[in-house]
Amino acid sequence: MKNIFIAGSTGSIGKSAVEVALSYPEKLSVKAIAAGHFTGELKGQIIKLNPSYCILSLKAEMDKAKLEISNLPDIKTKFLYGEDGFKELVFNEDIDVILNAISGSSGLMLSYGSVKAGKNLALANKESMVMAGDILNRIAKFNKADIIPVDSEHSALFQCLNCGNKSDLKKLILTASGGPFYDLPKEALCGVTKDMALNHPKWKMGKKITIDSSTLANKGLEVIEAHYLFGVDEKDIDILIHPQAIVHSMAEFMDGSIMAQMAQADMKGPIGYALSYPDRFHGLMKRLSLSKIGRLEFFEPDTLKFPLLNIAREALRAGKSMPAVFCEANEFFVNSFLRNEISFTDIASNVQKVMERHSPFDINEIGDVLEAKKQAVMISKTL
Ligand code: NDP
Ligand code: MG
Repeated sequence: MKNIFIAGSTGSIGKSAVEVALSYPEKLSVKAIAAGHFTGELKGQIIKLNPSYCILSLKAEMDKAKLEISNLPDIKTKFLYGEDGFKELVFNEDIDVILNAISGSSGLMLSYGSVKAGKNLALANKESMVMAGDILNRIAKFNKADIIPVDSEHSALFQCLNCGNKSDLKKLILTASGGPFYDLPKEALCGVTKDMALNHPKWKMGKKITIDSSTLANKGLEVIEAHYLFGVDEKDIDILIHPQAIVHSMAEFMDGSIMAQMAQADMKGPIGYALSYPDRFHGLMKRLSLSKIGRLEFFEPDTLKFPLLNIAREALRAGKSMPAVFCEANEFFVNSFLRNEISFTDIASNVQKVMERHSPFDINEIGDVLEAKKQAVMISKTL
């Protein structure tokens, strides 16, 4: 039995994780959950799971939760809030695995706290790896904590890399569904609205990652994430557009063999694998019928139409504080776009401007990452 803490339990990944846990009650027990706000969804989870702990991002939300739950006699959940709540919980000996499914850079401190406490981290929150990859790896290694990717491409690579020696690896090939604007002419992108961008053809996800998928910033973040997770150079990480979203990524070895991981486009697969690793859960996903799918296609991405791909690569090549600045600036302008303050194409041009105005500095400890975040926001606000 593994005892798990699902952070971001009311989001797209979090809800799938709760479903996985409820499907395998003999293997998984949810000891703790966390969300930003006290919603009906969270209340339902508390009633269904009766977790020992629930963390809310703010005290006011925690007070609301306590009030509502106090009249439910069988619920024994203890409520905590904010980063202090996370700090207390990561050291709890009853928790074996922490699934970080918080969205955006707010997930950073939980990833950091988890590996510091020596807890195995099932990592959906790619932003924390992008901003603080070296630090998370170093501390995880020191404290013998595993970081197991939940992002579908990285889960695929994690599985493919088990098929050979790291020293024999030639390339990582990340696949991308292409997003909703794959067929739209470049000139039409400036007219893209929030509603158009939020309509992803293959995956139902939170708002931030859905916009990132439509600009392909998501794939740029994933190149950086892959670099830190697997220790592979930027030049050896390729991207292919694969509209069917069946091959979730590939590892090419030096003899010319390419290992691919295939499955339904269902996040329960990577979530379940990260929680069952090194074992697998029986019947986790619907079986794949390749003859029904019939055709698998692969294309080169259009980096002129989606400049954030190359901007992310530039950030990774520059290193130091630049990946964190790229990540934070991108999040800042995605939020501006979601508030209808800037156009779709402004996201990329503004991120580029922030990076041009930032002088990269060394990242040695978590405080340096927080400083990079702060500087990125300061510059972003001037644009
Ligand atoms: P959602 O926006 O759907 O959910 C985010 C969750 O995090 C919500 O439960 C939210 O609660 C909670 N949350 C936000 N801030 C805090 C905080 N400070 N403290 C506690 N909880 C908080 O996001 P997704 O599930 O789509 O994505 C989560 C992460 O997983 C992202 O980093 C994303 O890139 C990654 N990912 C997602 C995939 C997907 O298919 N969705 C695929 C691969 C990776 P509330 O709403 O109450 O604020
Ligand atoms: Mg992904």
